[in-house]
Amino acid sequence: MEEDNCIFCKIVNNQIPCSKIFENEKIMAFLDLSPVNKGHALVIPKEHHKDLLDMPEATLSELTKAAKKVAKAVVKATKADGFNIGQNNGKAAGQIVFHFHLHVIPRFENDGLVPWPQGKYEEGEMDRLAKEISSIL
Ligand code: 5GP
Ligand code: ZN
Repeated sequence: MEEDNCIFCKIVNNQIPCSKIFENEKIMAFLDLSPVNKGHALVIPKEHHKDLLDMPEATLSELTKAAKKVAKAVVKATKADGFNIGQNNGKAAGQIVFHFHLHVIPRFENDGLVPWPQGKYEEGEMDRLAKEISSIL
């Protein structure tokens, strides 16, 4: 179902133009307007779902398959050396558009992008947290 004021729903409904690269009954992919690297693509469900936790399993599975095809084509077209799949959930994680999407970002040797910083656990903390997470599953 379309969500009012959702920019990606508007793209799906042709109310806003996009540079489309793939479409089937359930999925669409188009280039990100502000690419991390040129060829940066977004793969979205046509139905509005706000984030990963809101995504029906079947749609997620179709979308992942489409993203794999899109990634292969993006890499070939841009002659990339690799690619990142990115997906933000929630404002704190950098999500700006609250219509689920996967980022497919072509990467090049020495493209200057720095990976996210990595931290450390205190003694025993990692195992405690793993147990806590595991108990919730
Ligand atoms: P998020 O931060 O929510 O994971 O990413 C949203 C992405 O959508 C951003 O990378 C942004 O550049 C892209 N974007 C936002 N509005 C538009 C638009 O109207 N058209 C296209 N093609 N991309 C958009
Ligand atoms: Zn939407």
